[in-house]
Amino acid sequence: MENKKLGWAIVGLGKFATEQLIPAFKDCKYSELVALVSGSPEKAAQVAAEYGLNTPNIYNYQNYDTLKDNPAVDVIYIVLPNSLHAEFTVRGTQAGKHIMCEKPMATNVADCQKMIEACQQAGKQLMIGYRAQYETYNLKCIELIREGKIGDLKLITSDHGRPLKPDKPEDKWRADKKLAGGGSLMDIGIYSLQACRYLTGEEPVEVSAMMHNTPGDPRFKEVEENITFSLRFPGGVLANCSSSYSFFETKRFQAFGSAGNITLDPATDYNEHYLTLKTEEGTEEIKLKGNNHFAAEIDHFSECILENKTPKTPGKEGLRDVKLMMAIYEAAEKGQPVKV
Ligand code: NAD
Repeated sequence: MENKKLGWAIVGLGKFATEQLIPAFKDCKYSELVALVSGSPEKAAQVAAEYGLNTPNIYNYQNYDTLKDNPAVDVIYIVLPNSLHAEFTVRGTQAGKHIMCEKPMATNVADCQKMIEACQQAGKQLMIGYRAQYETYNLKCIELIREGKIGDLKLITSDHGRPLKPDKPEDKWRADKKLAGGGSLMDIGIYSLQACRYLTGEEPVEVSAMMHNTPGDPRFKEVEENITFSLRFPGGVLANCSSSYSFFETKRFQAFGSAGNITLDPATDYNEHYLTLKTEEGTEEIKLKGNNHFAAEIDHFSECILENKTPKTPGKEGLRDVKLMMAIYEAAEKGQPVKV
């Protein structure tokens, strides 16, 4: 295992793939970028040249299935608009490859199930790119809670927001319901939902929600702008979350316990994290070394494949979030709590 590196193909050379994921391979021990799949031959050639890849390892969305004939590729990482995740997962696993897929796993429950079944049938692994679950500060928060550092966990708040800018290519499809599946919840509110789930270690049993779109704002003709949602966990913890496509950059959570509070703000930034623990003894800033969590999640999946282990964030983790997000939309539309 020491010298073994799995070959990865990245599908979709957009902002996230080119600015965060591809550069992370330099910090990977078990993973190597070997192929690209893109609709733009120029962009693919440019990225390939930058990372020293050979031309035969550049594919497009039409000849994507011929990856089956390329033994250098073990894993396909899907970084396309949300509604394309299902098709490219199914085709990718039918080409005999393991699949890493970006969040949200898909835009509906049926697609998530289809993706899980296709990977099972092909005997291949499926992991969802929930990077926060591989990031040092988020992991520290889970540890502090489990060790009882804030006493009994009682309540969580989590907020994620940023202004949607459809004049930018990466936001154009986010305003289109067919491609995005939904608005701020599917894109960034999912981090608030995830945080509540990994901080409690439990699955919510009831959700309630409210939604608002600014009348006349052309960005929100199809997808929601602002959504607040509350979750009830079986152990008694309550959570209050928000997600916005119009408020200023926000990526934070707070966990309130009987003997202290934890604040991580920013919590889910690409680079920056600021953690404080408040107890009777005062407020302490906890500084950690931090990690390249993109490399950590990529390597985690390679290690799982090499050792035939289930990844920490498999397909069913993505399915759970999509089910919960659908329940949140339902609760907002009905104006009533929904049991899950
Ligand atoms: P992006 O628009 O920058 O990239 C999407 C890529 O898909 C582009 O290269 C685009 O050309 C290509 N594409 C193929 N078919 C397309 C079509 N029909 N319409 C539009 N584009 C098409 O978007 P992004 O921000 O890189 O997001 C891609 C995926 O990554 C999304 O699922 C998103 O949720 C996810 N993402 C995850 C994180 C994270 O932190 N985990 C961050 C950003 C994005």
